[in-house]
Amino acid sequence: LNDFPYSHVLVLGLAKSGTAAAEVLMKDGKKVRINDKKATASDEEVIRLREMGAEIIVGSHPLSVLNDIDIIVKNPGISYENPIVAEAIKKEIPIITEIEIAAQLTDATIIGITGSNGKTTTTTMTAQMLTQSDQPVKIAGNIGIVATEVAQTIDNNENLVLELSSFQLMGIDKFKPRIAVLLNIFEAHLDYHKTLDNYKQAKFNIFKNQTEEDFLVYNANDRSLIDAVENSKAHKVPFSVKERLEDGAWMDETSIYFRDEKIMDRSNIALMGEHNYENILASIAAAKLSGATNHGIQTALSAFTGVKHRLQFVGKHLGRMFYNDSKATNILATQKALSAFEKPVILLAGGLDRGNEFSELIPYLEHVKAMVLFGETAEKLKAVGEHAGVPQIKLTDNVETAVQTAFDFSEEGDTILLSPACASWDQYATFEERGDMFIQAVHTIV
Ligand code: ADP
Repeated sequence: LNDFPYSHVLVLGLAKSGTAAAEVLMKDGKKVRINDKKATASDEEVIRLREMGAEIIVGSHPLSVLNDIDIIVKNPGISYENPIVAEAIKKEIPIITEIEIAAQLTDATIIGITGSNGKTTTTTMTAQMLTQSDQPVKIAGNIGIVATEVAQTIDNNENLVLELSSFQLMGIDKFKPRIAVLLNIFEAHLDYHKTLDNYKQAKFNIFKNQTEEDFLVYNANDRSLIDAVENSKAHKVPFSVKERLEDGAWMDETSIYFRDEKIMDRSNIALMGEHNYENILASIAAAKLSGATNHGIQTALSAFTGVKHRLQFVGKHLGRMFYNDSKATNILATQKALSAFEKPVILLAGGLDRGNEFSELIPYLEHVKAMVLFGETAEKLKAVGEHAGVPQIKLTDNVETAVQTAFDFSEEGDTILLSPACASWDQYATFEERGDMFIQAVHTIV
């Protein structure tokens, strides 16, 4: 570890990231205590970590785990209202997340990507642009690959593209990406952060340690981040889907540009939707700043049809196009998906009821010719569809039966879109499982 002046560390929460952090810290000679509520003393990982020398406290969160602790490595999912965390804050014990440990393990060039929406898509595209430009690259972070594991094996001349959530960014100290990408800020996760301001501050942490030598790529059209960005010390590189920019990434009707250079024709891009153009421009800016070639960018973007479950093109049958947007677990994401299509859409939606009324969907339902609804929110969505004048609305059992019903409604030229506007937990363990069921059902037809 480059700069870690602490000797007694509490690892709070033992997911994969906590395990990786605990191992690294022990190898570095630190005294490590691990506390996890769900783990048990007979878990394989727990036994292994104990044998490596960790002190293990599992099954509960007694306040005594804080005794003699200099710093806490907290799992991003654990709330700041957890009694141990609240007590640690009172005692002024610093709290970091595993991202801080990862960053201290490597001198690779870090490209950090955050925002309320579009992180995974932008992270994936940026890495593919660099790969296609023969630039060595690895991805990690919130995308589901533990950063501390990758940071231990990556070479210093490689690029490390990190997807970063606000929860992870709450816990950084010296972490400083060479290129920070700030996509957008919408109201999200307020149950965790309490206020929009706290949530924004967490996102802004991505550039708090940057200096003049670093770059900050940001959305010039998102009012909610402009003021903070102006105070950053980094070299600012905006992107915009709306206007020409001298020192940034932008587009017009036909082409994509970086600064005054044309990068490619829009007609060679496979992704759909204005929101994806934002992700594309952000990726191009980050990739160009890291030495990507126009050819590499073109190759990546002509092949990229979307990350799985994010407005992912699944197939075409008898003139019907099928898209899986199972990741759309809120209204905003479904609005974005519906905006991406001009042709008639048959919308498959519904899921966990969080008390929303869904009226914000009404202006987006104009070209929706049918809705096939399932899950706890089916009735509420039906009311909204009727209000918007959607010609056909049908309630069904689940995603699988919805696919067949939608197909029965459809004609040549229609788009059949799963974009549920709800979390999946009333019927499916995860949004991935829900999307996989959709893909399977589509494949029985296609
Ligand atoms: P994240 O990793 O931030 O959750 P993803 O790339 O997985 O984001 O995209 C999730 C969903 O968010 C997409 O299906 C889409 O509906 C929406 N989305 C993606 N990019 C943007 C963007 N730039 N602006 C607004 N919404 C977006």
